[in-house]
Amino acid sequence: MSHIIHRNLRRAPRLAVRAAGLTVTDSEGRHYLDASGGAAVSSLGHAHPEVLAAMHAQIERNTYAHTAFFTCEAAEELASRLAGDAPGDLDHVYLVSGGSEAMETALKLARQYWLERGQPQRTTFIARRQSYHGNTLGALAVGGNEWRRAPFAPLLIDVPRVSPCYEYRDRADDETGDGYTARLLHELEQIILATGPENVIGFVAETVVGATAGAVPPTPGYFRAVRKLCDQYGLLLILDEVMCGMGRCGTLYAFEQEGMLPDLVVLGKGLGAGYQPIGAVLARTPIVAALREGSGAFQHGHTYMGHPVAAAAALAVQKVIQRDNLLGAVTTRGAALRRMLRTAFSNHPQVGDIRGRGLLIGLELVADRATKKPFDPALALHAAIKEAAMARGLMVYPMGGTIDGRHGDHILLAPPFIASEAELAEITSRLADALQAALTSSP
Ligand code: PLP
Repeated sequence: MSHIIHRNLRRAPRLAVRAAGLTVTDSEGRHYLDASGGAAVSSLGHAHPEVLAAMHAQIERNTYAHTAFFTCEAAEELASRLAGDAPGDLDHVYLVSGGSEAMETALKLARQYWLERGQPQRTTFIARRQSYHGNTLGALAVGGNEWRRAPFAPLLIDVPRVSPCYEYRDRADDETGDGYTARLLHELEQIILATGPENVIGFVAETVVGATAGAVPPTPGYFRAVRKLCDQYGLLLILDEVMCGMGRCGTLYAFEQEGMLPDLVVLGKGLGAGYQPIGAVLARTPIVAALREGSGAFQHGHTYMGHPVAAAAALAVQKVIQRDNLLGAVTTRGAALRRMLRTAFSNHPQVGDIRGRGLLIGLELVADRATKKPFDPALALHAAIKEAAMARGLMVYPMGGTIDGRHGDHILLAPPFIASEAELAEITSRLADALQAALTSSP
């Protein structure tokens, strides 16, 4: 019996004993092709020799020095690299141990910013219904995944919400793309006005929605218009790029494709690429300046923040991505994978949409393509696909549950940036088999 409280308390997971490149091997000697990078984490695949070497070197020098006493070279270098590669004045970095911690940090930094500016009445975040920002209580409160929120709802701060930017499902047949975007912006403005702009800390959103809806990119101009509204009403704009950032969408930061600048950017997953637990918040200069010139300190902190080995691993990951031009590879391989998926599935009666950016790709499954009717949640199709895929040696990230009050099954693909065309073809073919098997075994 395992003493770990696993995700599934009735069935222990397989035991992973080795992982290298795109392959994870279990204790029974079975191999799994990692088509989802875990959950959009492993951007360099597993056991990349240069990342391992950087970690070993750091372990030899210094594994830990508490940030109340010291900083370390790896954390300093990582922060200057992240800031240097970010556009505009996103010049400050706070290093933590994962995505949820980073989201909590961003929420608190935003709140403290307004306190320092003499606006203590700003206590409200506005967020979207279709989003996931992490599982800690603050992150869960701004997130919109009802399935995850429900048991803890009485413990969560109240967050006014607006519709997601989800063109496949929500744009009306007689509506243009611009008309749809304008409708979303009008809704956001109404919520800002109803809440009272002077009470709002900021607006929180994922640049490309990951885990609640399967790689849903914004419509053209959406975030530029959101930025304008935030400026007009004096709100901070907090973008969660835990899943879509760090190169996953083909630019280091996903918002770079939106032609605007957020105030705070939340990072995780691909930052450490699975080699170490690490997350970060990027902040614009005026936010940090307000704290520096005000109370002089950010009232926050974690024991493992700025961890030397985590920072060294993340730094090595970033160096490999840049040296090997992997952002370019994400764009070309992402396009290649989407082409393969379209060839395999665009006439499939149960695949409603194939979408995404770079190597963050979602397939939305529907019982009926014409009406976009989702499958009955009781079928748990996404779970059946995951199992069928594992049986065929393939890891895909399945999602189901309630999304913005509606059910939907999705498959998320987020293979490592180093995946070859042959591996992408293999992923597509095994996925086709797994989908068929899951659909035919469904009652
Ligand atoms: N934000 C987004 C967009 C995520 O996808 C996730 C994790 O899936 C998180 C935040 C939380 O990150 P973590 O699981 O590292 O706490």
